[in-house]
Amino acid sequence: MMLTPTRHSRDIERKPEYLQPEKCAPPPFPGPAGTMWFIRDGCGIACAIVTWFLVLYAEFVVLFVMLIPSRDYVYSVINGIVFNLLAFLALASHCRAMLTDPGAVPKGNATKEFIESLQLKPGQVVYKCPKCCSIKPDRAHHCSVCKRCIRKMDHHCPWVNNCVGENNQKYFVLFTMYIALISLHALIMVGFHFLHCFEEDWTKCSSFSPPTTVILLILLCFEALLFLIFTSVMFGTQVHSICTDETGIERLQRKKQPRERTGSCKSVQEAFGGDFSLNWFNPFTRPCQPEIPIDKGLVRQASSLSDMDNMETTESQLETKDRDSVEVLDE
Ligand SMILES: [Zn+2]
Ligand SMILES: [Zn+2]
Repeated sequence: MMLTPTRHSRDIERKPEYLQPEKCAPPPFPGPAGTMWFIRDGCGIACAIVTWFLVLYAEFVVLFVMLIPSRDYVYSVINGIVFNLLAFLALASHCRAMLTDPGAVPKGNATKEFIESLQLKPGQVVYKCPKCCSIKPDRAHHCSVCKRCIRKMDHHCPWVNNCVGENNQKYFVLFTMYIALISLHALIMVGFHFLHCFEEDWTKCSSFSPPTTVILLILLCFEALLFLIFTSVMFGTQVHSICTDETGIERLQRKKQPRERTGSCKSVQEAFGGDFSLNWFNPFTRPCQPEIPIDKGLVRQASSLSDMDNMETTESQLETKDRDSVEVLDE
């Protein structure tokens, strides 16, 4: 992630070697097309395993400490179904967020032939990522963990061991929502269970010994409270990002690079796929985004002052350049 990029004017006519992809660092896991997306980052994998472990711990305490020993059959069945359904949806959303390509830009496409095929006009520029040798579309950013440029990158989340971008933001939002919901549900059940145990004999309210029961419940209470706060804040931030059509990175860069934004309704539909339906809450349905044209957002106008400054050239200079001469900026 480059929040304060340095840019230099480059001219492929002057420096043809600049665009040779073989000069870039080779990808850490090239993988043939069609293979599953998975980031091999030790920290991210550890965080993802911890996430699963914490959900399974909550599952164990809810089932074996609270619901199964309970003598209220209806209470146990209803809460068991609701909790397990939410936990299943949370873990499914986690998998989808982790294993979905967040919108990676093709690596090494910054070749002379490809840029020439874009047929740039005077005053138009393309931005090149020097780290993955790709032509960066508008709103794409390089992630140093994924080692790729990601379309509409919001941030890299170690908890899902992936970037949150154009293609997997829905799954990430659902993940935070379902984790917040199971945390709230677990907290309510722990509260009821404590009340029930204080009224009854502690030896009868769980199949475990009273000290073990109390420790397991208090640990669950802490876990649920921590995750409820964390995921609620994250959920709110993500929904705000979608509604304002502004990613986390763009929020940080707002003053530097002001830009037009689409309406909230349209950006929500883009992120979740179509009109409001139950599918919005289903982690197994893909947001039905239209096929992205390969050159969408690649060519940009060098109209902003910052662009012109960074290009170290003036409009008149640009206009007098040969038509075949192309401006490629580092970003
Ligand atoms: Zn990149
Ligand atoms: Zn990333």
